[in-house]
Amino acid sequence: MNKLLLLAGAICGFTFAANAQEGGHVAPECTEWYSPKPPKVIPAEKPGDAPSDAIILFDGKDLSKWVSPVKDGKPVAAKWKVEDGAIVVEPGSGPIQTKEYFGDCQLHIEFKTPQPGPNNTLQMKGNSGIFLQSIYEVQVLDGQDNPTYVNGMVGSIYKQVAPLADVFTGTEKWQVYDIYWKAPKFGTDGVLESPAMVTVVLNGVLVQNNYILKGTTPYIGFPTYKAHGRLPLLLQDHGVPVAFRNIWIRNL
Ligand code: MG
Repeated sequence: MNKLLLLAGAICGFTFAANAQEGGHVAPECTEWYSPKPPKVIPAEKPGDAPSDAIILFDGKDLSKWVSPVKDGKPVAAKWKVEDGAIVVEPGSGPIQTKEYFGDCQLHIEFKTPQPGPNNTLQMKGNSGIFLQSIYEVQVLDGQDNPTYVNGMVGSIYKQVAPLADVFTGTEKWQVYDIYWKAPKFGTDGVLESPAMVTVVLNGVLVQNNYILKGTTPYIGFPTYKAHGRLPLLLQDHGVPVAFRNIWIRNL
């Protein structure tokens, strides 16, 4: 019997099991409750902008919320550029990651892929990546006329699952990701208790529907899980000056 029915039974002074056997007739109030109340969150006036409780990771101005991954035990300043209100990958400088660490979250992030050079085809065409908790990649790629493997196309969970739809709108056009992340949980012994799960909306279209991850998303090899706690959000340097803007996150 679920907790709700037990609670209703306690409030309304009856034993659910006995009542159910008699036909289950209860007052409407027995299945209603008033606390705890959800926190008040004020939505943005413009859809896609940050609601009142979001952490703004990039507001178009600076990289103050970001660092390059730790080197020799110390975080170093993020080396990517800020241009025209966007963060732009500085090819060859490595990834950047948030100073703050995250678990379950709602992430909004927009990206734009540049005009490709002659050698920028397939996985070199507009490649970057949004790594939830630093190690689980939602792929960023230019999907225009790109015949790459489907579990590596834009909207995929890299090398695990293709997107449910191809909704990329074009090179040099802003693409909008909304990502809903449930972090994996590990026991004190390090054993996986529940895997990560992700829902991804790209340009308003569902492309991952509560997908249960098999583990990390390596280029070579297979997914694995290794126990971890909260970790930074990381953006990939794949050698292409992909731009990102309007990045905000809500802890869940
Ligand atoms: Mg990538």
